[in-house]
Amino acid sequence: MSHVFPRHTRKTLPVARGGDGPFLIDENGKRYFDGSGGAAVSCLGHTDAKVTAALQAQLEQVAFAHTGFFTTDAAEALAEKLIKHAPAGLDRVYLVSGGSEAMESALKLARQYFLEIGEPSRRHVIARRQSYHGNTLGALATGGNAWRRAQFDPLLVETHHIAPCYAYRDQGDGESSFDYGQRVANELEAKIQELGHENVMAFVAEPVVGATSGAVPPVEGYFKRVREICDAHGVLLILDEVMCGMGRTGTLFASEQDEISPDICAVAKGLGAGYQPIGAMLCSTTIYNAIRDGSGFFQHGHTYMGHPMAAAASLAVLERLIDDKVVDRVAPMGEKLRAALHSEFGQHAHIGDIRGRGLFLGLELVADRDSKTPFAPDLNLANKVKAAAFEAGLICYPMGGTIDGQNGAHILLAPPFIMEDDHIGLIVDGLSSALAAAL
Ligand code: PLP
Repeated sequence: MSHVFPRHTRKTLPVARGGDGPFLIDENGKRYFDGSGGAAVSCLGHTDAKVTAALQAQLEQVAFAHTGFFTTDAAEALAEKLIKHAPAGLDRVYLVSGGSEAMESALKLARQYFLEIGEPSRRHVIARRQSYHGNTLGALATGGNAWRRAQFDPLLVETHHIAPCYAYRDQGDGESSFDYGQRVANELEAKIQELGHENVMAFVAEPVVGATSGAVPPVEGYFKRVREICDAHGVLLILDEVMCGMGRTGTLFASEQDEISPDICAVAKGLGAGYQPIGAMLCSTTIYNAIRDGSGFFQHGHTYMGHPMAAAASLAVLERLIDDKVVDRVAPMGEKLRAALHSEFGQHAHIGDIRGRGLFLGLELVADRDSKTPFAPDLNLANKVKAAAFEAGLICYPMGGTIDGQNGAHILLAPPFIMEDDHIGLIVDGLSSALAAAL
């Protein structure tokens, strides 16, 4: 009998015994193509030689040194490389162990920043309904995923949620996508005015929405307008690139494609590519200097922050992504995969939308294509698709979402950047048989 407390207490899971590039292999030798990377974690597959070598070398140098006493070469080098390739204005890196910790750090830094600069009334966070920012209480409160929040609502601080930028669902007939983006961005301004800008601390958003609605990119101009509104009202813009960052959309940071810089940015998942648990919060010079020249101490921390093993793995991951140009594979491979998905499922009666950026793609499942009517939530569709795909040897990430009060479902794909052309067929065939079995 297992003593592991699993996510699903009534399921018996296969044992992962090995990896082979983009494949995972179970104890019976069955191979699974990792089409979702965990979700969106394993961007380099499961057997990257350079990352493995970097981990071995770090282990021989130093495995752990508490950040209250030491910095390490690995942490310094990782921070330097991240900042060199980060959006303009981001200048400091706070290393933690995952995405939720990065988002908690971001929220607390935003609050402390306003205390340091003498604006203590700024405490409200505005975020979006279609969003997920992590499972710890602060991050969970920020996210707008009703299903994930439901049980814990009494423990969550009040957050103000506005509309997501979700063109497939919300763009009006006859409304241009640009106008649509401006309209939903302007909801932010209205909310700031309602709360009083002197009370608003931050706006939080995923540039490309991941788990909650399945790789939904913003329309052109949306984030530029958001940036303008934040600037006009002195509100910090926190971008959550935990899932969509680190090359997943074709550029190291997804927000590069929206031509804006945040004040704070959270990354994780692809940062360690699964070789180590790691997340990072990047912040602007202005915010860092306010702490440095103010109290001199960020009132936050975790035992394993700046862990040298995690930093060494992550540095090697960045070297692979940037120096070995693995990121450059993402946009063209993403286009090929998207074309194959369109050709196979573009007219499928129950696929309403195929979307995303780079190798971050989503298929929205609908009961009726023309009316975009979602499937009833009690069909448990996401789990059925996941199980049938797994049986067929494909790991994908289906979820039932909540679309502004309605329930919907989607399949998220986030395969490794090292995938080759002949893996596209595995994804398409796996999805076809999963959909045939589940619908
Ligand atoms: N933010 C986003 C956008 C995520 O997708 C996730 C995880 O899925 C998180 C935060 C939380 O990250 P973690 O699971 O590493 O704590």
